[in-house]
Amino acid sequence: MQGSGTTRDARGDWRPAEPIALPPTIAWPPRPRAIARWLLGFPGYLWPMNALWLATTLATWAWLTPDLATMRQFEAGWIAAILLRNLALVSLLFGGLHLYFNVLRLQGDERRFSTQPMARGSARFLFRDQVRDNMARTLGVGVPTITAWEAVTWWLFANGHVGVVGPETGALAFWAWFAFLLLAAPVIHAVHFYLVHRLLHWKPLYRHVHSTHHLNVEVGPWSGLAMHPVEQVLYFSTVVVQWLLALHPVNALFQIHVAAFSPALGHSGFEKLMIGRRLGVDSGNYFHYLHHRYFECNYGGSLAPLDKLFGTFHDGSAEAQARMRARMRARHG
Ligand SMILES: [Zn+2]
Ligand SMILES: [Zn+2]
Repeated sequence: MQGSGTTRDARGDWRPAEPIALPPTIAWPPRPRAIARWLLGFPGYLWPMNALWLATTLATWAWLTPDLATMRQFEAGWIAAILLRNLALVSLLFGGLHLYFNVLRLQGDERRFSTQPMARGSARFLFRDQVRDNMARTLGVGVPTITAWEAVTWWLFANGHVGVVGPETGALAFWAWFAFLLLAAPVIHAVHFYLVHRLLHWKPLYRHVHSTHHLNVEVGPWSGLAMHPVEQVLYFSTVVVQWLLALHPVNALFQIHVAAFSPALGHSGFEKLMIGRRLGVDSGNYFHYLHHRYFECNYGGSLAPLDKLFGTFHDGSAEAQARMRARMRARHG
């Protein structure tokens, strides 16, 4: 079967022709033109995915969040409203991508890493069904966890415990910091994810917690947040960085939306979401797919090159595969 100029191997696996490229921000000497292209181009750092999460953040803040002043006390009413809203948003996005890729199969097998189906009749999964298991973990545990972190965030801002602006902070400094934190949020997410994920691969935590997520060798959109409850709590603790830095609650909400929504496309099992024949939206999918395949590589995201720094980067090439095998032999004997 063909997929963008490369053929599938005997197992039916497809991989991109080019090795995974890291962002030009880490190149030395600096390449300002490449950085500008990467930042502003389509697809690029900002556009379309992070711009989309920013749009969901602003729309949620403007129309789907109670007034901050009403959230000074924890009350079942506004927390339930946020829970329902999050259930709807996650169902729409994760369910929509699942429908697109796996039910209606609108992209066929174009740029699909593996043609193995999602597991059915397997005792590894709740209800012996991978998709139902993933949905139950996402909607039953993931969304309440997102909601809990969000509720605490609103309570902190509403009471002035975080985000306090002193009289000396001018409007210009305020909005400059606001814009900088919006730009930085996906990088904060990538660094936080790397650190938490390395911790989760520590043997006791892996065995009792993170192995739940790794039951998903083949992945689909619903696999993104299909995690053990402890991993859910750790994963969404990325918002704490914004508690410490942000002056405006929208920065914190954006951090939550990046963490909540990006795993849907990141676990689609496809390298790109194709828009028409030519335009593909990438979100580092192959990078994380290789982690699900081989476990001992690509702990972070392709955005923050921590895997490169610590020697666990797998770019999909045969050389990277050999390096990983040598590393595993050295570690496990
Ligand atoms: Zn994953
Ligand atoms: Zn892992």
